[in-house]
Amino acid sequence: MLKGLMQDRPLLISSLLEHAASFHPDAEIVSRTSEGPLHRCTYADIHRRAKQVANALTALGVAAGDRIATLAWNGYRHMELYYGVSGMGAVLHTINPRLFPEQIEYIVNHAEDRILFFDLSFVPLVEALASKMTTVCGFVVMTERAHLPDCSIPGLLCYEDLLGAQASDYAWPRFDETTASSLCYTSGTTGNPKGVLYSHRSSVLHSWAACSVDGLAIGASETVLLVVPMFHVNAWGMPYAGAMSGARLVMPGPALDGRSVYELMRDEKVTLALGVPTVWLMLLQHVDSKGLKPKDELCLRRVVIGGSSAPRAMSERFETDFGAFVVHAWGMTEMSPLGTVCNLLPRHSGCTLEQRLSIQEKQGRAVYGVEMKIVDDEGVSLPHNGMASGHLLVRGPWIAGVYFRDEGSPTLDAEGFFDTGDVASIDADGYMQITDRAKDVIKSGGEWISSIALENAAIAHPAVAEAAVIGVAHAKWQERPLLIVVRKPGQDLTRASMLAFMTGRVATWWLPDDVVFVDELPHSATGKLQKMKLRKMFNDYRLPSA
Ligand code: AMP
Repeated sequence: MLKGLMQDRPLLISSLLEHAASFHPDAEIVSRTSEGPLHRCTYADIHRRAKQVANALTALGVAAGDRIATLAWNGYRHMELYYGVSGMGAVLHTINPRLFPEQIEYIVNHAEDRILFFDLSFVPLVEALASKMTTVCGFVVMTERAHLPDCSIPGLLCYEDLLGAQASDYAWPRFDETTASSLCYTSGTTGNPKGVLYSHRSSVLHSWAACSVDGLAIGASETVLLVVPMFHVNAWGMPYAGAMSGARLVMPGPALDGRSVYELMRDEKVTLALGVPTVWLMLLQHVDSKGLKPKDELCLRRVVIGGSSAPRAMSERFETDFGAFVVHAWGMTEMSPLGTVCNLLPRHSGCTLEQRLSIQEKQGRAVYGVEMKIVDDEGVSLPHNGMASGHLLVRGPWIAGVYFRDEGSPTLDAEGFFDTGDVASIDADGYMQITDRAKDVIKSGGEWISSIALENAAIAHPAVAEAAVIGVAHAKWQERPLLIVVRKPGQDLTRASMLAFMTGRVATWWLPDDVVFVDELPHSATGKLQKMKLRKMFNDYRLPSA
C-alpha cells in the first residue's frame, strides 16, 4: 500500500467549538433556564467558559478518561460541559433523569462516574441518591450562588463559583481521535441499561452527516430548537452539528409543554425543530386548544421527527397548519443516533401532497456512513423491494461495536453488522420503513402485522389523541391485534366508528380484533410507548373473537 501524504489531524470535539468561536463567534445560544429567565450567549462565550470547565475539572483532579456525569436539561451550561469535559479528554456521561432512581444509581455506579453536574430541578433526586453513588466524589449544582439550594448533598459545589475561579486560557490537548468522548446508556426496556461509548472520531463524523444537505441540512442560516434532550443520544448530535455549522441554537430547558415550546418557537423565530412525536402531540394540542394560527405566527420551515414513528396525520398537520416540512428520521442510541433521513429525491418533485406524505411516512434513506441490510431469521439477506421485511442490521463508523464494560457476547454478526432489534423493509429507492420492534411485531397465523402501521392509521382519526397496538393471545391465530386508544378531550369515539375508520386504511386481516379506550398510555424515559407494560396490563385480556 502506498500511504497518502495528507496532514494527520485528529477529528476532535474541541475542534468543532474552536471553529464556531472563530467563524461564528456571535451566533447565539438561547436557553430557557431552570432558574426561570431566558439566557443569551454566543459560541465565543461557550468556548471561553468550556475552557474554564476544563481548568476547573483539572483543579478537581479529573484525568483523561474519567467519567463526568450530567443530570441536566438543554441549556448553555450543559453545552459548556459537552465541550469542556470531552475537550480535555474526559468522558461526558449524560444521564436521562426520567429513568427510575434505581436505574440512575445502577448506571452511575456502572460507569464509575467521578463528578456529577446537575440542574436545580434534580436536587431532590441527587439528595436521595448521593450516598448510593459510590464512585462520585464531587457534586456540582449548575447555578449561581444566589440560587444555591439548602440541601444535604455532601460537599456541594456551585457551578458559577467553580468556573469563576478559573482562567479562560486553556490549550485543548491533541490526542488520538478514537479516544472516548461521551457515554450514553440505552433506556433498558429489557434488562439493565447498556452503555454506548462514543469516540471523538465517531462524534465528528456523525456531525458531518447531520449537517449534510441530505442529512438534516444544518447550516448557519438555521435557528434550531433542540426539543430532543441533551440526555437522549446527545440531542441527536445537535450540540456538535450546531458548532460545526454555526447554527443558532435554542434550548428549551425544563419547559417542554406545548405552550412553552410554541412561544419559544414564535419569539426566537425558530426555523428547524427536532423532537419525538410525544412532544409534538403536546404542541398540536396546545395549538388546537387555543385556536392558534402557527402559519401566520411562526417561521418554522422544517420539523425533524424521530425516536418513534412519525404518523402521517402529524406530518400533514405540520405541512398544512405550520407550513413546515416533516423530516422523518430514524436511529438509535447505539448509532449516535443518525441512521436514515427521509428527504425527497428529484423524481418526487411533481408529487401531490398525498403522494409525498406516503413517502414521508417512511423512515428514510441511509446517510453516507451507514450501511444497512435486512435479513430473515436465518440471517439471509432479503431483497430491497419494499415488500420483504426482516431484521434491520447496520454497520458504520458511528455505530457501536460493543457496549461499555459489557462482558457479554459481541453484538455484531460475522460481517460486522449490528442488529438494531427493529424489523423493516427497504424499497427499490432505498427508503427504509420500520414495521416494528422485533419484540412488538404481531404474529398472526404465521404472518406479521405491523403494530406501527395500525397505530398510524388509528391516530389519523380526528378524535384520537394517541394509540397503541399490541398482540394478544388468540387460540386460532396465535396473536391478534388489540387497539388501545386515548381519546382527545371531550370526544365521543366508539369501538365501531374507530374500526369503520380504519377499514380500507389497512389490510382487512390486519384490522384490530378489539378496541379499548384508556385515559393515558405508559411511556418510557425517552417518550416511547411502553409496549411491554401494555402487554402486562392486557395479559389476561380475552378478545371477543378468541
Ligand atoms: P433509542 O436508542 O432510545 O433512541 O431508541 C431507538 C429505537 O427507537 C429504534 O431502534 C427504533 O425502534 C425506535 N425509533 C427511532 N426512530 C424511529 C422512527 N422514526 N420510527 C420508528 N421507530 C423509531
